[in-house]
Amino acid sequence: MCIFCQIVKGEIPSYKVYEDDKVLAFLDIKPVNPGHVLVITKEHYPNIEETPIAELNAVISAVKTIGRLLKDKLAIAGYNVTENNDPVAGQEIPHLHFHVIPRQAGDGNKPWLQAEYGPGEAEAVLKKLQD
Ligand code: 5GP
Ligand code: ZN
Repeated sequence: MCIFCQIVKGEIPSYKVYEDDKVLAFLDIKPVNPGHVLVITKEHYPNIEETPIAELNAVISAVKTIGRLLKDKLAIAGYNVTENNDPVAGQEIPHLHFHVIPRQAGDGNKPWLQAEYGPGEAEAVLKKLQD
């Protein structure tokens, strides 16, 4: 059984922030910033495509609740919502979870490295997606 399933079952302790019938939210053990919350489905699904839409709706609804809570109670300026989908994308725990990461001006975090498209590259990708 995966670590997050063990947290859902209460076999591993966690600092719970929110819970409903489909979703559990708790503090990440290694926060990017204090108040970093993980929002997970109570059922085990490995990634977004494998997760039924009702569960995804419940998760994103909980993300909204957590975002409001963090802004109201921790006086944060904003937050990042991220989901590492599959190991190549940095997913270490194979149980669907969204990160809600509090941000403050000047905290130094920069989530993405970005690059320019080369000539014709965007059009080639678009063609593959549309074929
Ligand atoms: P991932 O890389 O899979 O998107 O993120 C997994 C997250 O789970 C990491 O940020 C990591 O700190 C957190 N994590 C791993 N094990 C535990 C644990 O036992 N308890 C809690 N609360 N968080 C954990
Ligand atoms: Zn699991």
